[in-house]
Amino acid sequence: MVKDTPTGVPVVARLCGRMWASGRGLRHCSGLSRRRMRRSRIRSPVCDDPRMRDPLANNGPTRVAETSSADLRERLAGVRGLILDLDGVLVLKARLLPGAVEALAALDTRGIPYVVGTNMSLASRATLSREMVRAGLPVPAGRIVSAASAASAFARLRFGTAPLYVMGSADAMTEFAGLTLLSHDQAAEAGATAAAVIVGDAGDEFTPRNVQSAFRLIRGGARFVAMHKNRWWITPDGVLLDSGSYVAALEYATERRALVTGKPSRAFFGEAVRQLGGLAATEVAMVGDDLWNDIRGAQKAGLRGVFVRSGKHGDADLARAAKERGGWVPDAVAPSIVEVVAALES
Ligand SMILES: [Mg+2]
Repeated sequence: MVKDTPTGVPVVARLCGRMWASGRGLRHCSGLSRRRMRRSRIRSPVCDDPRMRDPLANNGPTRVAETSSADLRERLAGVRGLILDLDGVLVLKARLLPGAVEALAALDTRGIPYVVGTNMSLASRATLSREMVRAGLPVPAGRIVSAASAASAFARLRFGTAPLYVMGSADAMTEFAGLTLLSHDQAAEAGATAAAVIVGDAGDEFTPRNVQSAFRLIRGGARFVAMHKNRWWITPDGVLLDSGSYVAALEYATERRALVTGKPSRAFFGEAVRQLGGLAATEVAMVGDDLWNDIRGAQKAGLRGVFVRSGKHGDADLARAAKERGGWVPDAVAPSIVEVVAALES
């Protein structure tokens, strides 16, 4: 089951068309027209982040200079692999961005490894790959890192065969194949224990009974893991609570902070670097359109962060980042993935 996927709506198109709110405020995944966004009541009180009150208003009064071609080559010197965000880098508004397919082909031709790193946790990588191929992006499942796959990798490494209680969609649950998973009935049994409770996009599985089970297990000592902390999202049928709201409820009740495995966590970038095979973090650049989830997260994990203007964030966001906690900037700014790939050393 893929939650809230209407028949005939491609997952990539639908997921890229969703708007969601994270722990930092409302985020925009660019899939809706401005008019539809206004109609969809997204300007709700939950949008408490001034920079996102109009998510499409990217351009501030001062345009921040892009890194020149020569500077871009210099700033990417030594980069031997890439992590590519999906929405805003390869696709936008459910359409391929110009040059995205050619950029991936150039990376393959030149033998530069890459993975697509996305916070999607509703679908498995196999499903995402099928939808990407259908959309024209030939990306195999093995070249995708998602919030769900990062949670699975973390669980395999940290908990081995110990029992886990995972709340996720049936499709995303295939990422946890081979691990010891408690059923909802087993999790609800008196005296049940688990090494970890992992919360993702569980959709209709978020029943009072299942949330209660998660609460009891965490109180009983289970490690609390969240695939992400998005507050809510918008679907063709309207706005829905996202799993971050359930994570927040469990954090409140248990007084425990969840460990997040999606972007911008170190766990996510660590898994992405591992999937690139043998590269050091300093040899990898994250290419993204989200200054905080992609760029700042990557920098904190020791990677280079290359911001592209082809997505949701723009000059106003760059200016905000420059004033934040002493100020920070991306390692490079480029118009799109095309210029980034052209600047890489062969
Ligand atoms: Mg993005």
